Order: sequence, then structure tokens, then C-alpha cells
Amino acid sequence: MSEFNHLLSTDKQEKLLDTEALITFEQLVSHTLKHGFLPTVAPELKHITLAGATAGIGIESSCFRYGFVHDGVLEVDVLLPDGRILTCRENNEYADLFYGMANSYGTLGYVLRAKIKLIPSKSFVQIDNHRYDSVL
Ligand SMILES: Cc1cc2nc3c(=O)[nH]c(=O)nc-3n(C[C@H](O)[C@H](O)[C@H](O)COP(=O)(O)OP(=O)(O)OC[C@H]3O[C@@H](n4cnc5c(N)ncnc54)[C@H](O)[C@@H]3O)c2cc1C
Repeated sequence: MSEFNHLLSTDKQEKLLDTEALITFEQLVSHTLKHGFLPTVAPELKHITLAGATAGIGIESSCFRYGFVHDGVLEVDVLLPDGRILTCRENNEYADLFYGMANSYGTLGYVLRAKIKLIPSKSFVQIDNHRYDSVL
């Protein structure tokens, strides 16, 4: 299934990325940075896939603002055990499956495609170091 790793489209106006879900975050971020964007959450380990971080939960420092990886997912195509592929969103007839995918560890179906939110990226990161004399 790792062949399902192709980018499909980037909507800069709406800040959305449509992609096959076995794309790794390394591939995903390499693409979005060229357009000045990032996913809301980018797990540090570069070979984690978008689907794996959705079904298996993905976190990173930006979660304090945007939630988990799956909170940035707007739509998924899910392959069911009977061979059907359902497009699931929060507001369609498959909303229960959409909400059930996070933390499902592949038990409900296999995510083939996902549409995710993007956020603007900046060229530099400012780091401030604050020194404390006490842990209190
Ligand atoms: C060294 C190391 C560093 C890590 N660092 C981070 C980190 O910085 N941030 C973070 O969030 N996590 C981190 N993790 C944990 C990692 O994010 C999770 O284990 C993640 O779920 C792995 O995703 P994966 O793409 O490698 O998928 P896998 O490990 O292959 O699968 C993870 C789970 O998702 C299911 N799954 C995979 N693909 C699909 C699919 N297409 N549809 C449905 N279910 C699917 C699998 O059945 C499995 O239950 C780290 C893990 C390790 C070992």
C-alpha cells in the first residue's frame, strides 16, 4: 500500500492539500514548503505517514495550537474490508467513520487519500532562551 503516496493537488487559496495518504511527512513537508505552507502538525520522525499519524495518532509541538494530526484532516477515502471505498467527512453520511478513524489503528478500514489543512510557513524560526535559577 506504500505506493499510495502521491500528492494530488494543493489549493493555496483555501490552504488545503489533497494527497494519497501513505505519503511520508518528509515528502509532504518538502512539497508544502515550496508553496509557503506546512501541515498543522508535522511529526518529527520523517518517515511517519499521514495515514499512520491519523489512524495511530500523531503529535508534535504545534499540537498546543492545532490539536492532533487528525484534527487537521478534513476528508478521507477509506477502503473497507468488503472492498468499498467511502469518502468520509464530518458533515456527510459517513461522519461516524470520519470521526472514528483517529486512534483506530487500522481496525475500521484503510485510509487511501486525505485532504488536510495547511498553515502558512515562515522562512525563519525565532527561538528565545530563558534561563531560570530555580525549578519553582
Ligand atoms: C523513533 C520514533 C519516533 C517517533 N516520533 C514521533 C513524533 O515525533 N511524533 C509522533 O506523533 N509520533 C512519533 N512516533 C510514533 C508514530 O507517530 C506513530 O507510531 C505513528 O502512528 C506511526 O505511523 P506510521 O505512518 O509509521 O504507521 P505504522 O506504524 O505503519 O502504523 C501505525 C498504526 O496506524 C495504522 N495504519 C497505518 N496506515 C494506515 C492506513 N493507511 N489506514 C488506516 N490505518 C493505518 C496501522 O495499522 C497501525 O496501527 C515515533 C515513533 C518512533 C518509533
